[in-house]
Amino acid sequence: MHVLITGGAGFIGSHLVRSLLERGDRVSVLDNLTTGSYDNIATFAQHPLYSFAIDDLANDLVLDRLASQADAIVHLAAAVGVQLVVERPTETIETNVLGTHSVLAAARRYRCRTLIASTSEVYGKGVKVPFSEDDDLLLGSSSRSRWSYAASKLLDEFLGLAAHRELGLAVTIIRFFNTVGPGQTGRYGMVVPRFVRAALTGAPIQVYGDGEQSRCFCHVYDSVRAVVKLLDAPDKTSGEIYNVGSHHEVTINQLAQKVIERTGSASQIEYIPYSEAYAPGFEDMRRRVPDTTKIRATIDWRAKYELPQILDDVIEYERSRQQAGASSSQ
Ligand code: UDP
Repeated sequence: MHVLITGGAGFIGSHLVRSLLERGDRVSVLDNLTTGSYDNIATFAQHPLYSFAIDDLANDLVLDRLASQADAIVHLAAAVGVQLVVERPTETIETNVLGTHSVLAAARRYRCRTLIASTSEVYGKGVKVPFSEDDDLLLGSSSRSRWSYAASKLLDEFLGLAAHRELGLAVTIIRFFNTVGPGQTGRYGMVVPRFVRAALTGAPIQVYGDGEQSRCFCHVYDSVRAVVKLLDAPDKTSGEIYNVGSHHEVTINQLAQKVIERTGSASQIEYIPYSEAYAPGFEDMRRRVPDTTKIRATIDWRAKYELPQILDDVIEYERSRQQAGASSSQ
């Protein structure tokens, strides 16, 4: 199969590139390197089945050429990270909605099987545990920038599902729940790399709010395995939405403790009000647990990695990054 991965230089994207190349697929990456990084994909540069274009989804000519060569598109390019979304809502909305519109237009022309990355953010402030794909969605007011991310991703989902219904395009939607692992940047707010980096440097670990909010962290290796299995099952999964996440729920306070334990760090925990961490009036969700019955039943996927292993993989990655940084500055 020849797969075009938009956002292939990003965190999930670069792990997906590796996984597809390893099994012998041909892979093209399209990434404008705004939040993705060339370092994530530098290692593939000489691979005979791999090609890379640094460009924007708005460049129709490039997107058209890449789509014309591909059997499938995995659309991961998006504005991600709560921090980024709150700080740059216009960019978030435009990148997500216009980008998906362009990808679907290209996919239509060449009848490409298409997977669209969405997010558990779309469940918003819902309080149901766990969240199922057919649940109602509860977003906060449009005066709070955070919800622009969920709204833009929802529109992406609607566009994808409409292309399936109206044009018979093989589109599948994936809602990722807190994907973490080696290679994730903490620059846009993600909690695990931020805590690990702070712990390794002895800096304070900053917990936002009271730390009793919880999340289920899913190893990127598990998430990528789900993407590949969904990619391979267009007949069963087209026109459908799937949650991809782990069931192991942990509060942010417990996460901070575990990071301190596993790094042996002397870092202290510091509590920061949400209004200071993000913006006045910021709304967070207390719990976010995925119901993964549907994906288990359809393609027999479930998350395998548990939190200690996930943290150890991130800690090892961050340690080697710091050592590389230290030796290159010597
Ligand atoms: N968080 C935190 N400290 C940080 C970054 C995030 O306490 O340095 C909290 C954040 O407020 C949220 C949780 O950790 O409650 C998960 O944040 P992340 O941005 O990783 O993912 P989200 O679930 O918000 O999309």
